[in-house]
Amino acid sequence: MTKIFCIANQKGGVGKTTTTVNLAAGLAKVGQRVLMVDLDPQGNATMGSGVDKRKLALTIYDVLLESATVAEARVQSEKLVAGGCGYDILGANRELAGAEVELVDLERREKRLKSALAEVAKDYDFILIDCPPSLSMLTLNGLCCAHGVIVPMQCEYFALEGLTDLVNTIKQVHANLNKELVVIGLLRVMFDPRITLQQQVSEQLKSHFGDKVFNTVIPRNVRLAEAPSYGLPGVVFDPASKGAQAYVVFAQEMVERIKTL
Ligand code: ADP
Ligand code: MG
Repeated sequence: MTKIFCIANQKGGVGKTTTTVNLAAGLAKVGQRVLMVDLDPQGNATMGSGVDKRKLALTIYDVLLESATVAEARVQSEKLVAGGCGYDILGANRELAGAEVELVDLERREKRLKSALAEVAKDYDFILIDCPPSLSMLTLNGLCCAHGVIVPMQCEYFALEGLTDLVNTIKQVHANLNKELVVIGLLRVMFDPRITLQQQVSEQLKSHFGDKVFNTVIPRNVRLAEAPSYGLPGVVFDPASKGAQAYVVFAQEMVERIKTL
């Protein structure tokens, strides 16, 4: 069955988009059929998948307002297919920022993405949703259709603080809107083992959250940061890099983990 996961954390710059595009590419590389949904008006996941957000005729905005279906709006990126990691993309651009306001008066406003994705779910093993850095109506649409949430986080002093808000939101959505929603796991990203504080926070995470912490750790790796400027996930841009390899291992961990869900 198709698994739908949100990559969420209301903090910005914590590695959500990097995780979404590299997990999508990693899953594609190990033979999974993947749709990547960009739910952030910044459109970074769209650009980082080799799709020019300014040239898109249809985006997730049209899907949320029900003027297009996912089947009509999804696109492919030739660069990804050429790199052996092809996945479909439901792109976003600045237009999406308006959806927040426009959805307010509409019915089923938090369930729009859910209905839209249901029509194409059979085409995919995984649907990954890159959430914006807020707990907004857009994020709510993501959480309402997902089976689970993947939370990328840096092992820093304030990391745990933001987590409380996210966990509370997930609990509320679980109670009121989506009984299936669970935290799949916390992913340690941009990890630098030479920094003692990061090791300490990493240990704290493991003792607090146990097996909710993924085994895979994504290292801080400059190739992952360089890749978006070439319109590619690191997994395609430099497959031999430590960061790319870690995301492929993470993809394999996800494939294993969903068997236990
Ligand atoms: P978010 O989507 O949460 O705002 P991004 O994925 O855009 O975060 O990451 C923020 C910045 O950190 C970007 O410039 C990205 O290239 C960089 N980055 C993300 N993960 C890594 C990593 N593992 N190593 C080095 N740089 C990273
Ligand atoms: Mg982002």
